[in-house]
Amino acid sequence: MMTKKELAKLGMDALRDLQEERFAKNYTIRVTSGTTGGSPLLLMRRRYTETEGGAQFYYRGVERSVFFFGALSSRLSQSSTFLFRSPKGNHDILTVDESDLNPDLDILMRDFKPDSFSGIASFIARALAFIQDQKILNGIRALRLSAEALTDAQEKFFKEKLPHAVIEMGFGSAEVGNISADPCEFLGKNQYHPDPNIKFEVVNQEDGIGEIAVSFYLSPSVYIEQYLTGDLCRFVHEPCPCGNSATFEFLGRKDFDFIRFSGATLQKNEAERVMDEYSNYIDDFRIEVKEMRIDDRILPELNFQIIGTKKLFQMERPDEFLRKEISNNLFLTLKQTLGMLVEKGLFLPPKIEFVHSFPYSNKLVRIKKVQ
Ligand SMILES: [Zn+2]
Repeated sequence: MMTKKELAKLGMDALRDLQEERFAKNYTIRVTSGTTGGSPLLLMRRRYTETEGGAQFYYRGVERSVFFFGALSSRLSQSSTFLFRSPKGNHDILTVDESDLNPDLDILMRDFKPDSFSGIASFIARALAFIQDQKILNGIRALRLSAEALTDAQEKFFKEKLPHAVIEMGFGSAEVGNISADPCEFLGKNQYHPDPNIKFEVVNQEDGIGEIAVSFYLSPSVYIEQYLTGDLCRFVHEPCPCGNSATFEFLGRKDFDFIRFSGATLQKNEAERVMDEYSNYIDDFRIEVKEMRIDDRILPELNFQIIGTKKLFQMERPDEFLRKEISNNLFLTLKQTLGMLVEKGLFLPPKIEFVHSFPYSNKLVRIKKVQ
């Protein structure tokens, strides 16, 4: 397996190939912020041509695109790639970041008249709250998403808000870029065929779920081998009617969307399902998972940080109420709830903490593993 550090070195090696190329525009420079474990990373990657395959859909059929990415590196790499790859070469691009999420966004959109939105689902969902003009929203023909697993609630929300938009998804990682083929009409949500230029593997599997490892040529002479992207997925074994035999389903970020501990798994989707049931009491939440050493055993503990509603705080013991309801409803295995696992002594009783707000982050991270 290749570490991020080794990847960064190879990324620089690819510079040599770039210097020998006549067309620098065949390369993408990727920079990451370095927030998830380690220092920032700079990496060159040669783009595949249309005949070589790989996802091309991002650039097709639209002329006025808004890119919604919290991270500057994503805005830069997406817009530069787009400008070089778009078949007509005369696309207009507007990039939106965190500081644009204010009522002026509506005016900006009326002025720009976009036909497509591209970016991270949770960020676009937040931005839509500031775009009031339905004419603008009706004009969106394509919603192109990457990086996050799309939830049912998000999908429903987008279909309501953007009634004429076709939702298309690609899959990639911040460090190495896109790793999926063009979307396939037969596949379900968060399912992809791998980019045919990439060797795609699922390693460290437990119960059919494992980590994505990719191997491919960054440039003609630089090969990266089994780089772990930090994403979890499973192979879909049913053959796809399109004839492509490899399909994977993206489940979430390891230790962020999907946290595993001996035999049990906390999934962001499941946590959101439960919290939605108590939306009269809970405005928003975060869950931190910690492994605690108790004598000679290591037991997981879930710490729920809750922004409560007025109704919740009218109760005599809001913490007791939530502890009981969440324990009885949150499934951590197919058949066992958190409460059952606590009863068996496999988990510590959950902690409930009330807060007023959560610190800002580029991506919406609702569950996470902490040391
Ligand atoms: Zn297919």
